[in-house]
Amino acid sequence: MRKLVFATNNIHKTEEVAKILSPDYEVLNLKDINCLVDIPETGDSFAVNATLKSTYVFDNFGLDCFSDDSGLEVEALNNAPGIFSARYSGIKDDQINLELLLKNMEGQTNRKARFRTVISLIQNGKNHLFEGTIEGTIRTSPSGNKGFGYDPIFQPNGYEITFAEMEMTEKNNISHRALAMQQLISFLKQ
Ligand code: IMP
Repeated sequence: MRKLVFATNNIHKTEEVAKILSPDYEVLNLKDINCLVDIPETGDSFAVNATLKSTYVFDNFGLDCFSDDSGLEVEALNNAPGIFSARYSGIKDDQINLELLLKNMEGQTNRKARFRTVISLIQNGKNHLFEGTIEGTIRTSPSGNKGFGYDPIFQPNGYEITFAEMEMTEKNNISHRALAMQQLISFLKQ
């Protein structure tokens, strides 16, 4: 079995991919390889940040690795919060960040937004990028209590409900992250 690192500390995320890629690949997370550093995400795009993490693992552990980076892009805010989605207000607090976004969108008629995920896979020293996006609109107030982050204010196109009102299985079929992951998986299974 070929070893493949998923540069995350999220065990649930790792197990999900591990199941799909078994028995061709043994999927390990950062803890499994004893990588305990907080890999800096200092890039200016999702692609650069994802690549920084996958490259760090490849360079320091000599293992093939993939890493994802995601965020919300709001058209009327010049694609903010983008790579700063997790800390839009300066702190890592989903509720405060969501409220700041709603405040910055007050009176705004263009409510178009998208979630984007970029995955970087370093395999045999070569970087492969995969991207998933989902288009939608920003509601004027939050709705729903499932999910995380900006889910309560994001309504995907073609739906009358927000991501936070959607069953997780349904979100996981259409989300930016799922679309990018599907591409990675079909590439690895080729
Ligand atoms: P990450 O790169 O997956 O850790 O995502 C960075 C940040 O983007 C998160 O902390 C959230 O604020 C936001 N984000 C990414 N994906 C989602 C999503 O599916 N729903 C809501 N917010 C998200």
